[in-house]
Amino acid sequence: MSLRTITEPARQIPIVEEVDVVVVGGGTAGLPAAVAAARNGARTALVERWGYVGGAAVGGLVVTVPEKAGIWGIQREFYGELAKLGGVAWGQWIPNENWAVVSAPISKYLADVFLQRENVSLLYHSWCAAVQVNNGRINAVIVENKSGRQAIAAKVVIDATGDADVSHLAGALTVKGDAHGHLAPITTMYMIAGADSKVWGSYEKPWELAVQPCSSICETRVNPGEFNAWGGSIKGDGADVRELTRLEIQLRAAILAEFANVRKLPGMAQSYISCIAEQMGVRETRRIVADAMLTAEDGKAGRVFDDTIGRAYTFTVPYSSLIPQRLENLLVAGRCIGCDHGVHDKIRIVPVCCTTGQAAGTAAALAARADGDVRRVDIARLQTLLAQQGVNLGR
Ligand SMILES: Cc1cc2nc3c(=O)[nH]c(=O)nc-3n(C[C@H](O)[C@H](O)[C@H](O)COP(=O)(O)OP(=O)(O)OC[C@H]3O[C@@H](n4cnc5c(N)ncnc54)[C@H](O)[C@@H]3O)c2cc1C
Repeated sequence: MSLRTITEPARQIPIVEEVDVVVVGGGTAGLPAAVAAARNGARTALVERWGYVGGAAVGGLVVTVPEKAGIWGIQREFYGELAKLGGVAWGQWIPNENWAVVSAPISKYLADVFLQRENVSLLYHSWCAAVQVNNGRINAVIVENKSGRQAIAAKVVIDATGDADVSHLAGALTVKGDAHGHLAPITTMYMIAGADSKVWGSYEKPWELAVQPCSSICETRVNPGEFNAWGGSIKGDGADVRELTRLEIQLRAAILAEFANVRKLPGMAQSYISCIAEQMGVRETRRIVADAMLTAEDGKAGRVFDDTIGRAYTFTVPYSSLIPQRLENLLVAGRCIGCDHGVHDKIRIVPVCCTTGQAAGTAAALAARADGDVRRVDIARLQTLLAQQGVNLGR
């Protein structure tokens, strides 16, 4: 890479919103974060780089969701409404486990409905490019979009970007990968249509058939003859744009190669690729260095923290793992909270991201009622509100 630089001239940026809480990233965690903040009385804005809310679970076509990870609160309510629209199917995709399989397009629509109902101010097609920080406090997030460069001033900021972009831009400490910096591989998901459901329906144990010879496919049962498929896994850094570009190209090629094998499976001869995810499936990038770091040992021991904000699988997630060190008015939700690499493969699962999102939104609303300092939130009050709003605190 060239080491030459240019100097960007200083400029005035319009403040287009002044709110209590701004959520950056309208993905898996960002949706419940914004809904929870608004429901708990905060004037809330949500910034999202794409033209819809849903993140990895929608744009990334990660549509299979394990109930055992803990589907509570706003996520449970969302699936209830999704079911009425024919957008979710429950089933045993893995023996003896209940999974929800959701429709990505219907989820997109329903997310708009949820956010509009709560009067969340939406700013789609907007990339968070910078933050203005003063004495450990974020005054505004700065976005780039078709209208130019714009600022959103907020008392409390929630980083739900998956990659801890806001925390990184604000100067928070972050870590990546395991002790050697190795990251979980990246996968692009895709959808298959036109399969013969009768053939698949005649198998008592479709999962045994699904794993070979392709990486993995799962019949959605949301629409007839439709499958959700994993298109191969390649190592790379999802927070490096050159790597992202290389992976986009290699993973699309991997899907085409894999699909040639899928078509050889029983009932698949007439099937075709109906959609390739527009967002690559990035499992792991930056995680914040938080006031408390959740560890694999905590997970194995089924630890119950005093400041639990929700149960995930058999353990609980502490509020302090959502707070990046060095900053006063920033909370993090989703796969980039403070945890070690060993427990990250559980933290990043959709229901756990939703749990941290709902908690961050509720806590942000409480902080915004006072001076915005997220460390001064009354934990007992936060836990009472979360329990009243359907979250299992695991105590
Ligand atoms: C291949 C794969 C398979 C998986 N399988 C499963 C599974 O079967 N079941 C399961 O439960 N989980 C699964 N997961 C995990 C899960 O899907 C994700 O970890 C989870 O959805 C991440 O949620 P998040 O809110 O942290 O991030 P995301 O959902 O990715 O949300 C981040 C949002 O922020 C936006 N954004 C990012 N940066 C910016 C910026 N600078 N400015 C503005 N917006 C920004 C993005 O567009 C996105 O909408 C899988 C993940 C992958 C990658």
